[in-house]
Amino acid sequence: MSEKKATVLLMSSISSHPPLLAAIEAGGTKYVCAVGYDPEKPIAEVRFPTRNPEDTLSEAIAFFKARSSELGPIAAMGIGTFGPAVIDPTSPEYGSILTTPKAGWEGFNVVSAIRSALRADLPVSFDTDVNAAVLSEAAYGSAKGKRYVAYITIGTGIGAAYLHDGKLLHGRQHPEVGHIPIPDFDTAFGKDTNRCDFHDSCFEGRAAGPAIEERWGIPGHELSDSHEAWDLEAAYLAAGCVTLTATWSPNIIILGGGVSQKPGLLNKVRKEFEKQAGGYWSLPPMEEYLNTPQLDQDAGIIGSLMLAQQALDCGQP
Ligand code: ZN
Repeated sequence: MSEKKATVLLMSSISSHPPLLAAIEAGGTKYVCAVGYDPEKPIAEVRFPTRNPEDTLSEAIAFFKARSSELGPIAAMGIGTFGPAVIDPTSPEYGSILTTPKAGWEGFNVVSAIRSALRADLPVSFDTDVNAAVLSEAAYGSAKGKRYVAYITIGTGIGAAYLHDGKLLHGRQHPEVGHIPIPDFDTAFGKDTNRCDFHDSCFEGRAAGPAIEERWGIPGHELSDSHEAWDLEAAYLAAGCVTLTATWSPNIIILGGGVSQKPGLLNKVRKEFEKQAGGYWSLPPMEEYLNTPQLDQDAGIIGSLMLAQQALDCGQP
């Protein structure tokens, strides 16, 4: 065989087998595991309920071992987790879940469990689920081409992420936008609901799903689209978006999570936002500025595969 032909064959064999990426979208209620060569296109995926850490991780590890036996060794893993969690790779506790009411999870180290089952030196990027979601929406979704991207998820809790010129905002721990103080709009509706054990009036305590259910007596998805609950919810979400506008100055704020899918809610938030912002900022049109995620249910797992790619590129651990 000529040297040239051998090189062509070698190159085609390399290009047909790019590194296999693995990812976990580690939610508080469900775990999603996937593998793929291209973050945008997972080739195998499994979803199952989050239980205690041992059972949950062993189901995840069984999936990765099975896929690896079919497709070859896993080159890197990305994990987008519920929080709070230790996401600083220089910390000895990197990979641990912090204070949480979820039984058995507090102090559990997800990265250690993965590495001891798969490979001790496996590159793993461990970050928050919202950080994973903002990465994928900026690369492939609603925020494609935007430099400064904020993403808020409103579901059983509230979390937010900020992508600044391609770089995720981290800190000593990670942003906890769910616990920013928020005005009490309840009183105007004759209500008094704040579902947070730590704060008198915070974003998550007032506006996440459990607060809506406690305030009106039934879960949000059972409330009619025209219920006054959504005027109040819009006031809280708008206040959160005003705070992010003032602090992060994004090009776009994406509102994801179960609660924000309520029909008509986003338009109420846009109107409320304009009222609360008082014309102070010069912003893009509201229907562009406050937007929905385009990747929908796939944002977390695609973003987690992107975290795996980043771990591989930067040579973690
Ligand atoms: Zn709070």
